[in-house]
Amino acid sequence: MARSRQLKIGGVVIPPGETRDLRLKVSESYTGDAVVLPVRVIRAARPGPNLFLAAAVHGDELNGTGIIRELMFGDPLPLRKGTLICVPVVNVFGFESHTRYLPDRRDLNRSFPGSERGSLAGRIARVIFREIVAPCDFGIDFHTAAVRHTNFPNIRADLARPGVRRLAEAFGCEMIVSSQGPKGSLRRSACERGCPTVVLEAGEVWKVEPGVLDVGTRGVRNVLADLGMVAGKPEKPAYQVTVRKTMWVRAELGGLLRFHVSPGDLIERGQPIATNISVFGDARSVLTAPVDGIVLGMLTLPAVKPGEPVCHLALPDRRPAALRRALAGRRAGADDHPATKISKARTTMRRLP
Ligand SMILES: [Zn+2]
Repeated sequence: MARSRQLKIGGVVIPPGETRDLRLKVSESYTGDAVVLPVRVIRAARPGPNLFLAAAVHGDELNGTGIIRELMFGDPLPLRKGTLICVPVVNVFGFESHTRYLPDRRDLNRSFPGSERGSLAGRIARVIFREIVAPCDFGIDFHTAAVRHTNFPNIRADLARPGVRRLAEAFGCEMIVSSQGPKGSLRRSACERGCPTVVLEAGEVWKVEPGVLDVGTRGVRNVLADLGMVAGKPEKPAYQVTVRKTMWVRAELGGLLRFHVSPGDLIERGQPIATNISVFGDARSVLTAPVDGIVLGMLTLPAVKPGEPVCHLALPDRRPAALRRALAGRRAGADDHPATKISKARTTMRRLP
């Protein structure tokens, strides 16, 4: 894992102990000018693991861009060993137009590892894979929920891979959702290539949310500490559960929703999730939790049609009552707890009595 060999990205050699800002050419615009990927490479003098941080692979998912910016310009991050490769905007085309996709309407996160002679998406993916993923030992990719939804910060990880499990646990989210990831995703392709990579899914599109920034920057620092790249020990959450099963609670009627739960809430079977009322108030239904679970994600737009997804429930490997006791047991630390911070940071969903 300890790499001492030369590091070269986009033809530029980055010597140990130096920080470089690079503009890596990934494509060309309609005017024929180069389209470049901004990359910051931070190398410690001592050899160690190479870790990449990638954000905005979906161009409208900005929380990760904010997390990487915070890590680059916030509290100092003195690397003791290894290399941190920061890519705050992977999908530069989508980022410019506030959209998830590329101009050819393909999903970059289904196009890895890419190909030299393939589509626009495939060629961009190929450059990123060759220049960023290939020299790395570990990776973290930042995502948010799709438009009109939000996710409580959770790690997505292929737990069958030991290196991935290590990253996932060290990051320190309450929930680790076990999955391989979609075919062609940066995470899955990197793992298959031998670079253990996890995804943080947190918050919503088009925003940099303070609660998500806290979780994300703390998580990266935890991983760096676990890998020995910075001093200190990873902070542990009040609880950490593996989630192997999730389910969506869907609207029964068309109408407007009042939400009764927030992302991260521990809820019990039968507990009201949202009340759905038609505009004249003549039709009404209360959506309840079909099982015990944790609110992993939610709709942010309160208008629904029958069948539309309202609440994404995680079914963890421990009972909510035990998790609630673990939360209560964290002495006076409620305000330090990511779950509490996220709930407080939410303004678009109001909890009703
Ligand atoms: Zn995404």
